[in-house]
Amino acid sequence: MIIKYRMLVNKKGIRKNSLRTLPKLKKEAEKWFHKWICKRDGYICYTCNGIGNQAGHYWHGRLDFDPRNLHCQCAGCNHWKSGNLAEYASRLKKEFGNDWFDKLDSDAHQMSNKFSRFELQEIIDKYKI
Ligand SMILES: [Zn+2]
Repeated sequence: MIIKYRMLVNKKGIRKNSLRTLPKLKKEAEKWFHKWICKRDGYICYTCNGIGNQAGHYWHGRLDFDPRNLHCQCAGCNHWKSGNLAEYASRLKKEFGNDWFDKLDSDAHQMSNKFSRFELQEIIDKYKI
């Protein structure tokens, strides 16, 4: 019992995370993942080639941490044009092909978008830059 207790106390990450709420942990994971997406895409808006600093979903509320589903966008495309989705779809198909695009579609409708504490911590560790 004493050993188990020590392990919990010594693993700062586990102890710290147990104090954070799941929504807070998800927000942090999103923050790092979105930064990573923009860096991957060279801060160029995927849908208009302007300068971007936001991560825009193709499928909203789905595949939140899937690098296929998010690309760097400018505020104009992401917010004002609600993702500029017609252009987004057209560019995804052109870049990756129709089969890839159909797979993204089916994954978006089949894969869970709920994440455990452990999964969120893994995402933070993977994408934190
Ligand atoms: Zn744009």
